[in-house]
Amino acid sequence: MNPDTFLSHVGTAQNGGVISPIELSSTFHRNEDLSYTNDLIYARADNPVRRQLEEALTTLENGAESMAFSSGQAAAMAVFQALPPFSHVLLPDDCYYGTAKLFETVFLENLTCTLVDMSNLSAVENAMQENTKLIWVETPSNPQLKITDLQGVGEICKRHQLLFAADNTWATPLLQQPFLFGADFSVHSLTKYLNGHSDVIGGVVICKETSEVSQKIRTIQQVGGAVLSPFSAWLSMRGMRTLSLRMEKHCQNAQQLAAFLENHPKVEKVFYPGLSNHQGHEIAKNQMQSFGGMLSFCVKGGEQAALSVQGNVKLIIRATSLGGTESLIEHRKSVEGDKSQTPNNLLRLSVGLENIQDLMADLEQALNV
Ligand code: PLP
Repeated sequence: MNPDTFLSHVGTAQNGGVISPIELSSTFHRNEDLSYTNDLIYARADNPVRRQLEEALTTLENGAESMAFSSGQAAAMAVFQALPPFSHVLLPDDCYYGTAKLFETVFLENLTCTLVDMSNLSAVENAMQENTKLIWVETPSNPQLKITDLQGVGEICKRHQLLFAADNTWATPLLQQPFLFGADFSVHSLTKYLNGHSDVIGGVVICKETSEVSQKIRTIQQVGGAVLSPFSAWLSMRGMRTLSLRMEKHCQNAQQLAAFLENHPKVEKVFYPGLSNHQGHEIAKNQMQSFGGMLSFCVKGGEQAALSVQGNVKLIIRATSLGGTESLIEHRKSVEGDKSQTPNNLLRLSVGLENIQDLMADLEQALNV
């Protein structure tokens, strides 16, 4: 079935209401023979709405099973926690700053990481250590939209018998399917495009196969308990029903806005993989169906000029996060802290579903104040 058709029916029910109810019960009846109906025992371990969402996400990426968590960070953390103690992980040098922060602040010496420029496959191979167990990829990356060759990383992982996880949040399952390139895990922040309406915090790990590691991730979910609430699971499925239409418009708007900014005299550089002069354009063309709704740009005149553009927007909202219907703008350096490698004149845009002329007019006036 085409994903557009599949998505239009996510969260529908078999009997009664067309849409599944939100099951709020924390616990479930036990039968006289001590069995449980549908294996539902206690809502931390499993819940009908969460199960329905997990099954939909598994189908969407053609995996074997999924585990939904209370945030994208909890989902990522579960993958790292499933590694043997003292493992080493390769992370992209440009990726969601919270991912690297897990290693600096939570895992400490129990798990270590090296940040690598993953647009350079030799650098990836050279960064490997004896105890490297996992390569974590984020493509396009946050916030510089670097592109990693998924096929190349897949081959490295196969050669060295490493696990391969891709943070697929920015691309969504519609624009990129990491399992086709050898990934073992596709991780998403549901908070972003999958839910798509800026009203859920959630995450998911989709596993290509059922394995010892996937079982460990399931245990971390059920025993650790950082689970997605029934309401957030229900809202996520509601959002997913329009994912195809939303992504089409996000991509269209972002492509046009990238071209507009690229030709603007006050703009130094635009980072968008849909531009033919982008460092990873050809690879992105091969591994993505379209280039996504995120872009970043550097403003001429340095940090103050960028902050002033951010301060002058009227329609676009100044806020962190991404993937909602509304366009959001953010000065990433001031969010990422001292260790950030992000240029201080870079602004990140989550391009929403507004009329493109309105978006251009807002940026035009903000750049010209
Ligand atoms: N992955 C990416 C690429 C992100 O941009 C973010 C958040 O911005 C996350 C993961 C973390 O997700 P959450 O905020 O749901 O924990």
